[in-house]
Amino acid sequence: MPKKAKSKSKHKNVKQSEKYEVSGDKLTRKFKSCPKCKSMLAAHANRSVCGSCGFKEVSVKKE
Ligand SMILES: [Zn+2]
Repeated sequence: MPKKAKSKSKHKNVKQSEKYEVSGDKLTRKFKSCPKCKSMLAAHANRSVCGSCGFKEVSVKKE
C-alpha cells in the first residue's frame, strides 16, 4: 500500500496582529466587520466585500 502524501494545508492562518493596526496606544481595526453576519470584510481598492454573505460596501473617496 502506497504511503499517502501529507496534504498541505490550504488554509493560511491569518495572524491576529495583521488584522489590527496599532497607532499610539489605540488599536484600530484594519478591516470592517460585516453588519449582517459580523464576519470580517475583505478590503479591496474601492470596496469592502463580505465573503460569507456577499455583503458589498463601496467606499467612495471624497475630496
Ligand atoms: Zn456578511
